[in-house]
Amino acid sequence: MTEQSTSVTAPAPARVAVVTGAARGIGAATALRLAADGYAVAVVDLEESTAKGTAEAIEAAGGRALAVGADVSDAEQVEAAVERIAAELGAPVVLVNNAGVLRDNLLFKMSESDWDTVMAVHLKGAFLMTRAVQKHMVAAGFGRIVNLSSSSAQGNRGQANYSAAKAGLQGFTKTLAIELGKFGVTANAVAPGFIATDMTAATAARVGMEFEAFKQAAASAIPVQRVGVPEDIAHTISFLASEGAGFVSGQVIYVAGGPLD
Ligand code: NAP
Repeated sequence: MTEQSTSVTAPAPARVAVVTGAARGIGAATALRLAADGYAVAVVDLEESTAKGTAEAIEAAGGRALAVGADVSDAEQVEAAVERIAAELGAPVVLVNNAGVLRDNLLFKMSESDWDTVMAVHLKGAFLMTRAVQKHMVAAGFGRIVNLSSSSAQGNRGQANYSAAKAGLQGFTKTLAIELGKFGVTANAVAPGFIATDMTAATAARVGMEFEAFKQAAASAIPVQRVGVPEDIAHTISFLASEGAGFVSGQVIYVAGGPLD
């Protein structure tokens, strides 16, 4: 070894990002994008076996990833998952609360369980994950939290539960921004419009339409005349997670191909 090579400073270890619901859809695209941005990524989903697909894709592209199985609505599983991530990958400083489910129905047909499930995954899940991860961000003096809201936060037929949860996440986000700002932590919400994923395919099936026809009908009402793809959302999250976005906090960014309030 030459004298010159011994004086080279070792590169700083990659910052660690956690993405929930990252086995597929928007979460998978976000995990891949954050890995391409240089983060080591914890790919969290209900089953470790499904999370592995995304983790392997990251590793195949030369990144570092850990597949973790956890139900974000279960406090014990969340605490264990975050402890494991910190031990095996490093202390997480980016958190994307993306895990989500639909239990759509018109109000008069909506069951208590439809309501509770949606609240548990979206709202309680984001609360539990954020509570578990924030201590690592505070210790690091740096953190980026991105919560997945939705254009449905403004109200959507058949989604009383989901729109309430997604509107709730906007209030949650703003409160995180206020409480955690002094520790170098920002919190923002991304509110997608129509994004082509298994979730919107399931909605097409529920209303009895072919997915292609459903997408075309949606696209015709969107100013940019197309539906979104998961990478559209991943790109916005990448910006919000970046070091340079440190003065953007408590915001709701609609990524919907056109203006929404
Ligand atoms: P998706 O394709 O249905 O993926 C959601 C992922 O979350 C799945 O991998 C699912 O796992 C996982 N998940 C569900 N419950 C979980 C739990 N309790 N713990 C951990 N993981 C869980 O959905 P997507 O379309 O990518 O949506 C991602 C996020 O964006 C959601 O929060 C959604 O509400 C929001 N969003 C989507 C759209 C859209 O048009 N697609 C628009 C606005 C907002 P399983 O596969 O095992 O169920």
